[in-house]
Amino acid sequence: MDNQMISDLCSKLSRTYLSRPIPPRLKRDPSEFHRKVVDYIGSGISGMKRFESPEVKKYALKVLDNDGFREEMVKVSQEYGSTKTDPEKQIMALLRWFKGQLFTWVNKLPCEFCKEEDTSLIGVEDPNSSESSGDCSRVEVYQCPKCNKTSRFPRFNNPVRVLQARRGRCGEYTTGFIALVRSLGFDVRLVNDFEDHVWAEVYFPGLKRWLHADPSEGILDEPLTYAVGWGKQPVMVMGTSARFGASDVTIRYTPDFVKLTIPRRRQKGLQGRLVYNSIHTTNAILAQPPSAAALAQLQREENEELAGYIIKPRETGFHAGRQSGSTEWRKARGELGSISIDIKDFQTTKVFDSTANPTLLKDLAFNGNARFQETSALLTPCVSDQAGSIFLKAPIDISHGFRLGFKFQVSAGDGADGLAVVFQAQGPSALGKGKFSLKHHSTPQVAVD
Ligand SMILES: [Zn+2]
Repeated sequence: MDNQMISDLCSKLSRTYLSRPIPPRLKRDPSEFHRKVVDYIGSGISGMKRFESPEVKKYALKVLDNDGFREEMVKVSQEYGSTKTDPEKQIMALLRWFKGQLFTWVNKLPCEFCKEEDTSLIGVEDPNSSESSGDCSRVEVYQCPKCNKTSRFPRFNNPVRVLQARRGRCGEYTTGFIALVRSLGFDVRLVNDFEDHVWAEVYFPGLKRWLHADPSEGILDEPLTYAVGWGKQPVMVMGTSARFGASDVTIRYTPDFVKLTIPRRRQKGLQGRLVYNSIHTTNAILAQPPSAAALAQLQREENEELAGYIIKPRETGFHAGRQSGSTEWRKARGELGSISIDIKDFQTTKVFDSTANPTLLKDLAFNGNARFQETSALLTPCVSDQAGSIFLKAPIDISHGFRLGFKFQVSAGDGADGLAVVFQAQGPSALGKGKFSLKHHSTPQVAVD
């Protein structure tokens, strides 16, 4: 299609369908980046149609029924009580179960024969006939240093094959997750940051907005994770759905769109209005919303939300560095983030909130004089010569950053010598000596004396 044809089509559509402006002519030759973005719009929307297939939905529902998702749902419901809506709890449970139990991240493919993990990538090949039936774009081949045999890692795009293999990187994670979310009846988008990461967005009719959902990271509604936690500044982030077409959602993922993104777009040669019009033209042709009014309504809501972030910049808060992938790999990509403790953010305490989730008690070890009392953990009773400690039974990897929130109370009485939040590698039964010896050798720690 040449520019005149696109222009004619748009003006026709704008009169009959969306009341959109006539697109401007190309100001200059499109850059490679611009072309990549515009070319993606149609294939992105068409690609989402595979999740509408009854076979995919049926298979996805079977996975949800058989593999522990319902149990996770019960846990999340207990944990969040009435603080979250049921659809939010459903997606939170799905994210946790999906990342924690269902899928396995592949850095290097372990040897299929002797299970050796430290294999080497020796090449990328075209798929064989059985692999290409899974809509496979390429196959990574790994060699084992122990038994010398090679193992193949086909990168499937077919949702059923992805849900069967249950392994991969952000592409497979997002494909599998979208199939499951769609089978639960949610509208869902594939979100593509053109600089190398994909995730999803799920539409919550009760909230009237799309919520960021990243199955590789297991996080919901934390869109500033990439810009703030990973230190990535997106140029173009596009969401595509079979029903509602494509949308430029970059603003949702940027702390300051005007200052940070617009200059980078210019640098990359992205012609914003042209992209905008290409999106709307393609949506009018390919999207399959229940009605044109429903599509327009959704776009209005989203435009209002995104414009809101420009008018009133969001609190950036604390976001952890990237969790998925090996430390080495994340370091090479500069996505580790920084270690930081944010003790202001009480609301995000997930590890231990006894009132919200009494079942978490089983994850804690109480040592010395420590015990659980009513709704709090009591380090020591108000008596002389006491020492108590409470640790998580399972160690947590804090090498890539974490966030911590806690509340404490010092009761009336003569008081004790102090208390500390301690990070230690000794084990869950570690206990100080009490009295004047409130001192641990591990760092970092937060102490109240
Ligand atoms: Zn081997």
